[in-house]
Amino acid sequence: MKQYILSATLFFSILAGAQQDVPQDYFSNPLEIPLILSGNFGELRSNHFHSGLDIKTQQKEGATILAPADGYITRLKVSHYGYGKAMYIQHPNGYTTVYAHLQRYANAIEDYVKQKQYEKESFEFEDFPENKLLSVKKGEVIGYTGNSGSSGGPHLHFEIRDAASRPMNPLLFGIEIPDTKVPLVNSVFVYPVGDSAYANNSGNRSKLRLIKQKDGNYTTEKVSALGKIGFGISTYDQQNGASNKNGAYQIKTAVNGSEKFKVLFEKFTFAETRYLNRYMDYEYFETNKSRVQKLFRQDNNPLSVIVNEDDNGYITIEDGFSSDYTIEITDYKGNTVSITIPIEGKTEENPEPKDLKETDHFVYHKQGTAITKGKFDIYIPAESLYENTYLAIEAKGDTLTFHEDIIPIHKNITISVDASNYEATDLSKLYIGRLNYRGQPYYNSTSRSGNKLTTRVRTFGTYTLAIDTTPPTVKAVNFDDGKWISSNKTLEMKIEDDLSGISSYRATVNGKYILTEYNYKTDLLTYDFDDDIVKDTENNLKLIVVDNVGNSTTFEATFFRK
Ligand SMILES: [Zn+2]
Repeated sequence: MKQYILSATLFFSILAGAQQDVPQDYFSNPLEIPLILSGNFGELRSNHFHSGLDIKTQQKEGATILAPADGYITRLKVSHYGYGKAMYIQHPNGYTTVYAHLQRYANAIEDYVKQKQYEKESFEFEDFPENKLLSVKKGEVIGYTGNSGSSGGPHLHFEIRDAASRPMNPLLFGIEIPDTKVPLVNSVFVYPVGDSAYANNSGNRSKLRLIKQKDGNYTTEKVSALGKIGFGISTYDQQNGASNKNGAYQIKTAVNGSEKFKVLFEKFTFAETRYLNRYMDYEYFETNKSRVQKLFRQDNNPLSVIVNEDDNGYITIEDGFSSDYTIEITDYKGNTVSITIPIEGKTEENPEPKDLKETDHFVYHKQGTAITKGKFDIYIPAESLYENTYLAIEAKGDTLTFHEDIIPIHKNITISVDASNYEATDLSKLYIGRLNYRGQPYYNSTSRSGNKLTTRVRTFGTYTLAIDTTPPTVKAVNFDDGKWISSNKTLEMKIEDDLSGISSYRATVNGKYILTEYNYKTDLLTYDFDDDIVKDTENNLKLIVVDNVGNSTTFEATFFRK
């Protein structure tokens, strides 16, 4: 046993040593402003771990981004959602840096992008420049920060990926973020795990009362338990200069001073990031909006951020057991907070049994399952769920109650619905929507085959057949039909669609395609007159907007310029 501990220690110190191969001082600060973070590496987000740093840009767009090292651009992508305007730079040392949510690219790159967008007649596009066509020098301006894509406020999303495309913690590369704040502890939970296990007289998760000590660390009330148990924690870290709740760098647990479990946010793969839903307490998040990290590895959790574990982080408590379990949370600068949990093994007469709602549908996660309910056919592929589960499924007319969003789905589940009771004219305007919290059917990408509609879902909830017969609306924002707009720098239109939402748009002036940028958060389409497509005095604008079921609106207006 001692031998094992020794070699494990040696093994992990070799791993730690490998970290020193990460080049220090190779990448300089990509911004000229102080690095204040609104998000850091590894923090828990919806369905993924955050893969980079979110650097605040003083509440505004347009900060210059400087190449942190020599390299060449290997990928440019513009999308309405996600990363918005994004850029990938490969460096000679094998690492790639990524920049997302840009306002625009530096001039030479912007020209290249525009040319491609005009060739494809599409604002959304992706390109992989070859032969080091677009090279950059360290310190050169490569773009300007923005708020494009799914960004919720002006910032730069910055990543460093290794040669295997794994995102890595940029702080490992010597990027300096002042941090003198100790990680914060929100709440701690005990989880009885084994079938007959219980803690604090219950077979279910229970929250522990935290008691703050004079030195800033915590203890909790004593936990009495029997059988296999584990613990969970809701914690976050803050860096200097901002109050954003960012992620902790390292969490480790120990019993009697010997390590049980360690999570370290230094790198992960995109293939594993969705397993975050297995690692965190999904049900607790959906019901309480707080992310609890389970400090143990359940089946079907392959996460590589768990770098050390003994018995998967569980502890088995016998009657008469008496010991302390500790959780230690550390940020990148070494600021640490600890929680000491005294545990005693105690047999209880009548512990509260585990919550288990039995239903008609028990799904084995290892095999595919087909279920028919009313007019709905459901197919749950193998490994869509992390464990065998009872699902509550009800169909009523056009609505399917497909369990509750308290269990994560890993792989797409297919839902088909027979719509043969609809008239042919209506059929083409139907879609499958997921009811949002306001009871509105939010469009889920729907395909049709005859009378059958099919969609794929990765969230439990209520799905319904919905019909959208209303075409999108278009409004001119900064011009009027028949008027002069010589001083306008842009042409702006507001495009909106109830129910199914906007699918595509295309604008021309005097028959020539004009590139319009779409911002789904403001519903604005913007053409920049600097593109120099509009050269005539009298200009006939034609804009066609189509929604997700094919309703289309054609907007036409004339404007004059000189
Ligand atoms: Zn980000």
